[in-house]
Amino acid sequence: MRILVTGGAGYIGSVVSEELLQAGHEVVVFDNLSRGHRQAVPKKAELVVGDLADRACLDELFRSRAIDAVMHFAALIEAGESMKAPEQFFRNNTANALTLLEAMLAARVKSFVFSSTAALFGNPARTPIEEDDTLQPTNAYGESKLLVERMLGWFHQIHGFRYASLRYFNAAGASRPDRGEAHRPETHLIPRILDVALGRAPHLNIFGCDYPTPDGTCIRDYIHVSDLARAHLLALEVLALENSGPLLYNLGNGQGFSVREVVEVARRVTGHPLPVIESARRAGDPAVLIASSEKIRRDLGWQPRFPDLKTIVESAWQWQRTHPDGYGSMP
Ligand code: UDP
Repeated sequence: MRILVTGGAGYIGSVVSEELLQAGHEVVVFDNLSRGHRQAVPKKAELVVGDLADRACLDELFRSRAIDAVMHFAALIEAGESMKAPEQFFRNNTANALTLLEAMLAARVKSFVFSSTAALFGNPARTPIEEDDTLQPTNAYGESKLLVERMLGWFHQIHGFRYASLRYFNAAGASRPDRGEAHRPETHLIPRILDVALGRAPHLNIFGCDYPTPDGTCIRDYIHVSDLARAHLLALEVLALENSGPLLYNLGNGQGFSVREVVEVARRVTGHPLPVIESARRAGDPAVLIASSEKIRRDLGWQPRFPDLKTIVESAWQWQRTHPDGYGSMP
């Protein structure tokens, strides 16, 4: 198949692009490079630099290339940022997704894999979170993605779209020593901890130590980026079948770690004391997010290959240590 990967110059999109190529698919990456990196796009993929707000550009792309399915990663992803500038999230994540769906409709491309998020659930009523639990985001990021899930439901019902919505919990780790997380600025916990280990920051700020958790810090379910990528390929196989229904899946390891526990694992991996400073809560952060991924295990036979947090942090450390400037460190 020829797959259009929006955001294929980003962290998860580039890993999935590489897996698609390895599985024998063709990949067209569409990215405005506002957050992604040209060097992250796998060599065998075609890169089209463009913006999802540009409908004419999308129409030309679909007209000139026989696209079979779309995987949509391009989005703003930082929950904290979304509580300062929600308008950017509704523009980039919601409105641009609609433009993409309209272009697909016009081009009669109806298979779609969507990067969704645990942030859909807000403060969950129970743990681990199952797919049909209440969707009630506590931040504008989660809301911007929930609106896309809702649109997809209608596009399925009315236009016969086949789609998978994969709700990522905390993506982490590196798929290879030379392919990893490189956000600018970096806000995610594991790379920020590793920045301290590299001497690029004097300490880690822990955002909130008064949550209702055993050690007072937020608990998250960290999932290796390669395990996430595998789920996309499995979903794509099912979407190729006629009449496949909506595939809604939570993706995590079913195990939560507090911020302090992640720091402790990183101390063991890096051998660095990793000083921390207890700071104020970050707006919009739920206390605990842990996935039940039973459904995707049952339906698609998905199995995480790297569920161990130490392995995840080690892979991130290997990448970050050898590429302190991310893709800017590449020759
Ligand atoms: N966090 C923190 N210090 C940091 C970055 C993150 O204490 O410098 C906390 C954050 O408040 C959250 C957890 O680490 O509780 C995971 O945050 P991240 O931004 O990595 O992912 P999120 O869960 O927001 O998607």
